[in-house]
Amino acid sequence: MASAPVWLEHPSSLRHDTGTHPERAARMQAIERELSSRNWLGFERVQSPEVDRAVLEAVHPSRYVESIERACASGGGFLDMDTVVSADSFEAALHASGGAVQMVELLLDGSAPYAFSAHRPPGHHATQARAMGFCLFNSVAVAARYALDSRGLERVMVLDWDVHHGNGTNDIFHASNQVLFVSIHQSPLYPGTGPAGDVGSEDGRGFTVNLPVPPGSGDRVFCSLVDRVAVPLAREFAPQLLLISAGYDAHHEDPLGECQVTEQGYADMTRSMRRLGEELEAPVGCVLEGGYALEALATSVAATLTALQEPDAPEPDGSPAPPLVDAALERLSEWWPALR
Ligand SMILES: [Zn+2]
Repeated sequence: MASAPVWLEHPSSLRHDTGTHPERAARMQAIERELSSRNWLGFERVQSPEVDRAVLEAVHPSRYVESIERACASGGGFLDMDTVVSADSFEAALHASGGAVQMVELLLDGSAPYAFSAHRPPGHHATQARAMGFCLFNSVAVAARYALDSRGLERVMVLDWDVHHGNGTNDIFHASNQVLFVSIHQSPLYPGTGPAGDVGSEDGRGFTVNLPVPPGSGDRVFCSLVDRVAVPLAREFAPQLLLISAGYDAHHEDPLGECQVTEQGYADMTRSMRRLGEELEAPVGCVLEGGYALEALATSVAATLTALQEPDAPEPDGSPAPPLVDAALERLSEWWPALR
């Protein structure tokens, strides 16, 4: 039973060759260097399996999966302006999604109290049938879908704190009331989606929560959106599983974003999600997304792992919330009256 927290990884992540692209193998190597110097912070390292094709195809149509397979088998190249694949990228992507699914399995079985699935390529920009933004398969979406379809869960929350909008996850669950998708992202910024007014569609209205923040936003903005918007929403929604699309490109050193989050901010957001998980008796799992300043990425991941395991984390302080918190609560109270 619930022994050590688990770190899911696979060597194929290093063979997804993107050349001089910012989303490169050196990201994983920087994380590995940092964590190995700290004895993996007590996490048990597990090799991720390839994702089961039926589980993958519950999100991505088989013709799309096959198109990625073909593109890689023929040696690779650019799938769009900024998404490049090499011969080994298909295998890497299968393990990236397989790791996220395996993470959910371990969490729901009670085999791990917390887990982090760390692979390349990232996933949150991939839509059902389109690779984009360095992403091929949407691993967090595949894992959430697996939890609902194969494990019988009824409600899953995905918090996406990558600096870019998780447009793929947004679209995949747009009409679903089983996945509460909350994204904090810089606006304006790639991919240009995720305005506050995009709240989902059909039965999913109110279950897509976009929280765009201006360039320059730092720990106070990100943490107060988690503590005062995402957490109260989750208390109403009562998810049975908490997944974090954990990108680290809102860090102040990141070359792609213009936000100012620090390691302390990532630790605080993680603690808030951990506390929420304990309160709701829902396990917490992280899936690596972006993060392109190598040292900042590595130390921020380490801060997340540390915070996942800290008992008796202090409550957030009661300092006044930035105005965009009140605006978000007001907007969301149409679907979530308890937030008023
Ligand atoms: Zn990103």
